[in-house]
Amino acid sequence: MNPGTGNSLPRTPRVLSPEEIAMQAGRQMPFVRLPVRASVFHDRQLRLRQLAASHPMREYLLFVADLAAAQHQALQDHPPVAVPDASACAAAAKALKPPMPAFGWPRDPLWQATLRRVLTLFAAPLAAGPVRDTVERLLASPADWIDAQADRLSRRITLGLDLATAPLIAAGLQAYWTQLALQTADVHGERVFGHTEPGTECPCCGSLPTASITRIGAEDGGFRYLHCSLCSTQWHYVRIKCTHCESTKGIQFQQLTPEPGIALPATGARPGAAKAECCDACHHYLKQVAMEKDPEVEPVADDLASITLDLLVADAGYERSGHNLMLLFGDPDPDNDGGGG
Ligand SMILES: [Zn+2]
Ligand SMILES: [Zn+2]
Repeated sequence: MNPGTGNSLPRTPRVLSPEEIAMQAGRQMPFVRLPVRASVFHDRQLRLRQLAASHPMREYLLFVADLAAAQHQALQDHPPVAVPDASACAAAAKALKPPMPAFGWPRDPLWQATLRRVLTLFAAPLAAGPVRDTVERLLASPADWIDAQADRLSRRITLGLDLATAPLIAAGLQAYWTQLALQTADVHGERVFGHTEPGTECPCCGSLPTASITRIGAEDGGFRYLHCSLCSTQWHYVRIKCTHCESTKGIQFQQLTPEPGIALPATGARPGAAKAECCDACHHYLKQVAMEKDPEVEPVADDLASITLDLLVADAGYERSGHNLMLLFGDPDPDNDGGGG
């Protein structure tokens, strides 16, 4: 634990309080930062490989990196998908709801072709072994079983979820939803993704964030964005405000800090790149990654690589609110004593 980071925040020019942000309201930072087709999965892949180098979870980080490489390729020439029409977007905006809620929006059946493409690209270089067997099992699975698994992932139901194929199915879903977000913005303009209620969910697909990112740069430097776990859209959310219960009181940060003589578990990231924003009102936390500490941070990759921070914060009694589709845990199955899964 690091008492030094308790309630006082580092005094650097980039750290803004909600009040300071309000004072700066004249400065128009974009509310939404859409994923960039050419780089969203490519950057994730590079970051995962960088973090994997000396990491205890090296093999898993490389597995997710290889998946991200396949997602990148699939996204580059993704065929058009069905998008909401203008009246549906207007109705969603009026109700302060996202236009394509992850659970509720009828996925274009084409999404399964995206999944198959991702799997085929991912499997091409794989040697015979359990990972290849799992991919082949998924490729041979009926479409309705895959859709039922995708529904569970979209609703964050882990009961009955096949944990071996879940990250693979999630990779296909992420590629499809990224295409859907980009194409919808192309058709209707970026402003189609406006403020929704609650502001803690993605304004495009309503999913939970994986982590938040504080940015550097002329346009949005100093501002904090939440990173969607499904479509990789980022949306502005003021700093020092709980991303679970929206409280602005009792927020404190925890991070892994080296203590003299005690070696830190390798995370691959620079010190301070990932912190846990902890809320004493609801006892939840979300990780925050900081470009000013490490310009190459990527929310999904850095969240995976900083799992020791989760252990630290869990020990202190906080519950994780971030969602990472590449890091899923099964629930105990009440109908099945110990067998589920
Ligand atoms: Zn989203
Ligand atoms: Zn809270």
